[in-house]
Amino acid sequence: MEPVEKDRKRKPPGTPDAAALRRLPSVDECLRAAQDDGALMAAGRAPRAETIRRALAELRARIAAGGEIAARTREELAAVVIADARAALAADQPRMRAVVNGTGVVLHTNLGRAPLAESAIEAIASAARAPVNLEYDLASGGRGERDAIVENELCALTGAAAATVVNNNAAALLIALNTLANGREAIVSRGELIEIGGSFRLPELMALSGARLREVGTTNRTHPEDYVRAIGAETAILLKVHPSNYRIVGFTAAVGLAEMAAIARTHQLVAMEDLGAGALIDLSAYGLPREPLVGERIAAGADLVTFSGDKLLGGPQAGIIVGRRDLIERIRRNPLKRALRCDKLTLAALAATLSIYRRDDDPAERLPALRMLRRKAAELERIARAAREILTARLGAGFTLEVIESTGEIGSGAQPAAQLESRAVRITHPERSPDAIAALFRRARPPVIGRIRDGAFLIDVRAIEDAAALAVAIEPD
Ligand SMILES: *Cc1c(COP(=O)(O)O)cnc(C)c1O
Repeated sequence: MEPVEKDRKRKPPGTPDAAALRRLPSVDECLRAAQDDGALMAAGRAPRAETIRRALAELRARIAAGGEIAARTREELAAVVIADARAALAADQPRMRAVVNGTGVVLHTNLGRAPLAESAIEAIASAARAPVNLEYDLASGGRGERDAIVENELCALTGAAAATVVNNNAAALLIALNTLANGREAIVSRGELIEIGGSFRLPELMALSGARLREVGTTNRTHPEDYVRAIGAETAILLKVHPSNYRIVGFTAAVGLAEMAAIARTHQLVAMEDLGAGALIDLSAYGLPREPLVGERIAAGADLVTFSGDKLLGGPQAGIIVGRRDLIERIRRNPLKRALRCDKLTLAALAATLSIYRRDDDPAERLPALRMLRRKAAELERIARAAREILTARLGAGFTLEVIESTGEIGSGAQPAAQLESRAVRITHPERSPDAIAALFRRARPPVIGRIRDGAFLIDVRAIEDAAALAVAIEPD
């Protein structure tokens, strides 16, 4: 081995340490050195070798870029590689992790919308663990229909004659339009041509379905005669879309569903409504704005209603279509159904969620999303105070924490105008920007997602049921 000190003296600062580069150990040498490292040995052989190879490459690049490395001998350099590899393994966390929703938005699409009921979670676990009669009729021993798992409950809860389920509400709309209006016209009021988050634009989705969009009326006013005048030989559907995420106010006129359905009947067309949120029970009893109920829309004459499983229903992501049996059966026979169908886990969770609506006097007791939506100020105040105490202890000196009044939202486009009175912990620091504090909480374990309002970082407790959820590990920086 070359005399180390002599090499060192020759290297001007900022230039590559040629001697260190020469002395870098091989991957095999590092692997041998890793045999004493418990954490690295706990990983499989291939990921261990890969992590070490990467750590070695990074060290080589660091030295080549003129970085100063304290390690000199081959053994010391191998120890650096091992330490770097161990740190890389520890930092290797799954991309999707549990987070704390401190945004105040209960059905936050980016955070996975509705948290599920315990019974739905258990249903997912048992369906995941063992084979299930997903498409198998236990009575006859023959092939069954997977929609049967939820169809009876959906019909009982909405008064519809039949029901089918696909991946999400966008898919429900796509398959319904493709089945009933491919190559023909669907008439929609100009006031209902919505765009909602995540690149859902009604006109684009309609084009994909093969249905031709025939717009009627104006942005703010549409009258029954507008529909009647637009109906022609090419018309297949009159479509109504619940304007989930915006309001038209002022000089307005819209055609009610019952009226639109009557026009559809007269002309032997299908009246369909995309309801979006899909409330099964009246939430105004909880002090929330009134959302149209699926059952009411069926009763008002809709031939088909589509809605999401993970919005106000409080279940898993799904797109539910309820309505006339002949139409549902045509949708089921569409090959797209095969492409858009739900898996057994979704159906298990949806069935368990619907069962709560069918059996419980007060479904909100067991449905976390509804429970969070109906919480009152006194409870939120209590949680916020407890949260403030926990966070004060976690953050240490320098931070100021106070409980303030805030406003939450239902989320996922449902009732955007509805501001839910809430409480938040407002966190400030004389030397840290709100963005820096937000980043600190995103790095916590588990990460806490808050929001910035009026130049301060807030953790809203509307969607946090237990303040203990905020007993997170905060890494000082
Ligand atoms: C949310 C929503 C959709 C899309 O539903 P996803 O389940 O997110 O696919 C479609 N239409 C309306 C009116 C909605 O509110």
